[in-house]
Amino acid sequence: MSDLITRPRRLRHHPVIRDLVAEARIDRDMLVQPHFVVPGSWVSHPISAMPGIDHQSVDRLVSTVGSDLELGIRSVLLFGVPDDSEKSPDGRSAWADDALVVNAVTALKREFGDHIVVMTDVCLCAYTDHGHCGVVRGDRIDNDATLPLLAQMALAHAKAGADVVAPSDMMDGRVGAIRELLDEEDLADTAIMSYSVKYASAYYGPFREAAHSAPSSGDRRSHQMDVRNRREALLEAELDLEEGADILMVKPALAYLDVVRDLREAFTQPLAVYNVSGEYSMVKAAAERGWVDERALVLENLHAFRRAGADILITYHGRQALAEGWL
Ligand SMILES: [Zn+2]
Repeated sequence: MSDLITRPRRLRHHPVIRDLVAEARIDRDMLVQPHFVVPGSWVSHPISAMPGIDHQSVDRLVSTVGSDLELGIRSVLLFGVPDDSEKSPDGRSAWADDALVVNAVTALKREFGDHIVVMTDVCLCAYTDHGHCGVVRGDRIDNDATLPLLAQMALAHAKAGADVVAPSDMMDGRVGAIRELLDEEDLADTAIMSYSVKYASAYYGPFREAAHSAPSSGDRRSHQMDVRNRREALLEAELDLEEGADILMVKPALAYLDVVRDLREAFTQPLAVYNVSGEYSMVKAAAERGWVDERALVLENLHAFRRAGADILITYHGRQALAEGWL
């Protein structure tokens, strides 16, 4: 007779018992599907580096969000991808009355009201002619001169009805600047999801094609976090919370699960992860070649985010995961 008393395998013998004791679970309400909005009508162009994801004009976006809603995706995150002719040194088309994202928010809220949560990315890089995330003076991004512009952009989205504005620029003080302007304009109920911990990551490669936002020179290392740093993430998150952030985010997700866990343990606020384009495209490319089991890999990644402590999963895999019955 064996002297083993504790046998973890007892709870692994069949799928139902494994499901019974599973620690990390995914609910479709946690999923946020990102969208890339372009000018025009009835436009839907595949983004070649991100199979399954399209550039869409507002009308097509509304129908996509409608079919996603039937699948159970109730939150979206919008990125504007304007034509080059709309770009300028300060990115002013980002907060125009007829800005792409403003039109998209208006159309989605008219169609779906409070049945969906509309989140909007707030950063200038898709709207500036130099592709940097702020106002450039000499060879630097002027942090403080950028803040009022970001606040104007967030205000335009909030006025159109966005539930959540999501600053991704990594300028110091931007959450506070946005909160202050929204409150002044009687938009105290608009929430801020801050890209608090956004690393200067090579995983954003495919997104640059999607958002046409690559800087014409230089890189983003003067404002995004150094990939070698972990403690600094706590400082970034703490500052954003002091300035009024409602939801924190870690971006990218997969290579930064230690940081997700750190934030989970340090703060009580909801925590989002952004499962970014490069993470998505790597899975897609390997699956296309038959090198991995796509379903198993996607589920493993999504559960890893939950295990690390994320509450909100921003992922390009959301639609497929639900459409194919993976979740
Ligand atoms: Zn940017």
